[in-house]
Amino acid sequence: MKNDKSTVGGQRSITVLGATGSIGDSTMDLVRGGGERYRVEALTAHSNVEALAKLSREFNVRFAAIADPTRLGELKDALSGTGIECGAGESAIIEAAARPADWLMAAVSGAAGLKPALAAADRGATIALANKECLVCAGDLFMQRAVRGGACILPADSEHNALFQALSSGNRDELTRVIITASGGPFRTWSAADIEQATLEQALKHPNWSMGQKITIDSASMMNKGLEVIEAAYLFALEPDQIDVLVHPQSIVHGLVEFSDRSVVAQLGAPDMRTPIAHCLGWPDRISGPAERLDLAKIGQLTFEAPDFTRFPGLRLAFEALRTGHGATTVFNAANEVAVAAFIAKKIRFGAIARLVEATLEQWARAGNLAPLESADEAIAVDHSARNLAATLLPQIAAKAS
Ligand code: NAD
Ligand code: MG
Repeated sequence: MKNDKSTVGGQRSITVLGATGSIGDSTMDLVRGGGERYRVEALTAHSNVEALAKLSREFNVRFAAIADPTRLGELKDALSGTGIECGAGESAIIEAAARPADWLMAAVSGAAGLKPALAAADRGATIALANKECLVCAGDLFMQRAVRGGACILPADSEHNALFQALSSGNRDELTRVIITASGGPFRTWSAADIEQATLEQALKHPNWSMGQKITIDSASMMNKGLEVIEAAYLFALEPDQIDVLVHPQSIVHGLVEFSDRSVVAQLGAPDMRTPIAHCLGWPDRISGPAERLDLAKIGQLTFEAPDFTRFPGLRLAFEALRTGHGATTVFNAANEVAVAAFIAKKIRFGAIARLVEATLEQWARAGNLAPLESADEAIAVDHSARNLAATLLPQIAAKAS
C-alpha cells in the first residue's frame, strides 16, 4: 500500500511463510502457474516435513525452514543431495523472512506470524499479508515498522483486498466508511441455544470458503469478522465507527468503500482466495487468475443482513477491544486462540469461546494491565501473559453453564 516495489521485466523472487497451509497452497498454485516468472527463495512450515520437502524440491528453493526444532534432521534427510539450505525453529522462520526476496506471502496462522512478518517489514519487502493476527496483536507497531522499513503491505485477506482495490477509486481523505462482508458462517440462522452446543464437526462446515481449521472455527463464531474489523482499522488507519460489517451469505461482494459523495465502490468475485492472492502477486499489474468466472445471472440473488451482536458476541467484543486499545486487541486475539484450541480439544463448548475471551479481557483491564505497546517484544509479552490468563480462567468457564 505504500510504494511500488514490483520487479519490472525480470523474474520476481518470492518467499512463502506457511507454505503448507491453505493460503500457502493457493499461493503455490499461482506460483506454479506463473512458471519462469517466479523464483522461490524460501518456504516455511510448522511441522509437516514431508509437504515442505516436496514443495522445496518442486520449486528448487534456496532455503527451507521448519518451525518445529526437533524436525531439522528429518528435513535435512528429506532434502539431502538437493543443495537446499535447511533451518529449524522460530529463528529459521525469521531468517526465511529476512532473506532477500521481492515478494513475501505472510501466511503463518496465529500470533506466531508476527516476528517473521516484522523481519520482512524491516527489510522493506513487498508483503502480501494474510496473517491477520499479527495486525490484531500489534497493529500500530507493525504498520510503523513497515513504514520505517519502506515495506509495501498488500492485504491478502479477501475483504481487505477488496477494500484496497475499491480505495483506488478515490482519495484517502474522501473515504467516509468501509464495509466488510461476512458469510455469517454455518450458524448464521441458528438460535443462541443451538450455537452454544455446536460441535467441532458442525463448526468446520463452512458454507462458502475452504480454509484452515482455526479460521474456519473463527468464521463460525464470527470472531474472524471481529479480527478483520481490527485488521481493517490498523491497515487503513480507520476509526471503529468507520467500519461496518454486513452479513452477505453468498460471499460474492467482499468489501465496499463509501466516499464523501456517497458513492459506494465494491469488489466482487467468486469465493476463492486465489483471486485476492493473485491480485497481490501481480500488483501493481493484473495476472490471470484461475478462479471460476463470476456468473451473477446464475447466482440470481445477492442478499444482505445486519450482523447479530447477541448471538455472535465475538463481534461485539472485537469492536470493544478496538475502542479500548492499549493492548486490548492483543488480549482479544490471544484469548481467542486459547479458546479455539480448548474447543478443538473438547474442553469447552462452542458458546464458551466468546465467554472466555470476554472474561480474559475483563480480568486484564481490572488488573490495570492496559498500556500502549511500545515494541514487538512488549506485544509478544502481552500475548503470552494473556494466554496464561485465559488458560487460568478456562476451568471456571468450562464448568459454567451458559
Ligand atoms: P493453515 O492452518 O491452513 O496454515 C498455516 C500455515 O502456517 C501452515 O503452513 C503451518 O505449517 C504454518 N504454521 C502454523 N503454526 C506455525 C508456527 N507456530 N510457526 C511457523 N509456522 C506455523 O492456515 P490458513 O487458513 O492458510 O491461514 C493462514 C493465515 O491466513 C491466518 O492468519 C488466517 O487468518 C489468514 N487467512 C486465511 C484465509 C483462508 O482462506 N484460509 C483467508 C484470509 C486470511
Ligand atoms: Mg477474510
